[in-house]
Amino acid sequence: MQSDDAMVAAERSAAALADGGHLVVVTGAGLSADSGIPTFRGEEGYWRVGSRNYQPTELATAAAFRRVPDVVWPWYLYRRGVCRAAEPNAAHRALAALAEVLRERMTLLTQNVDGLHLRAGSPAARTYEIHGNIDYARCSVDCTPATYPLPLDLRPFGRDDTLDDATAARLRCPRCGERLRPHVLWFDETYNERHFRWDSSLRAAAEADALWVVGSSGSTNLPNLVAQIVARNGGLVVDVNPDDSPFAALARQTGGAHVRKGAGEALPAMVQAVTWAESRS
Ligand SMILES: [Zn+2]
Repeated sequence: MQSDDAMVAAERSAAALADGGHLVVVTGAGLSADSGIPTFRGEEGYWRVGSRNYQPTELATAAAFRRVPDVVWPWYLYRRGVCRAAEPNAAHRALAALAEVLRERMTLLTQNVDGLHLRAGSPAARTYEIHGNIDYARCSVDCTPATYPLPLDLRPFGRDDTLDDATAARLRCPRCGERLRPHVLWFDETYNERHFRWDSSLRAAAEADALWVVGSSGSTNLPNLVAQIVARNGGLVVDVNPDDSPFAALARQTGGAHVRKGAGEALPAMVQAVTWAESRS
């Protein structure tokens, strides 16, 4: 019965987590779609400057930032405004609540750059934003790995805005004076520990007794890699995905489950069930 998927997944997860087991949760775009965050791959992803149209895949690169930083920044400031206007949804809140129950036994890896997990209350120390956070900047010449929250009083950027001098002057590294850059992983860059806690993510996967993959299409490397590591080590894989699951076979193999529901519906029930099981152990 489809409505029991979430309960089955929760019970199996709770069993895997009994006796101090570790949970890793990987979240993707599907989770933030419930908060109204567009993927920027569609129509709204295009960016026009003058008569020139840019694709996200050409703007979200280190090469573009070196060439036309004054085009790249307004695009990010516009997208950042979209993210800040969005609110965490029931799935974000459920995962934040679960982190309070499991504490150091849970690690959240997110591909989303919208910062909604942190705003929902997930602990920064155990939330690895492996693609970065659009609300932060860092030094473009990497004089320090420090990240800086973008000022809340930066003026709003609309779709046709260009970078003004006053804003540009505020996007400077406080340490060395070079340009700041958006704290996101670009298409022509690779995962790393220094900025994105990549090694820590793989270590968390290696220690996991259960993995929840939530709202991920499976088209990116990280969920696949993490799922393979967890499965190889005998952990259980649960996929929460209203559509056909790229992880369904792995979920079966590992004694997990495919929960065919949206995250906002499935996660609160799953978290409640795991919390109940934890309170009895
Ligand atoms: Zn610097």
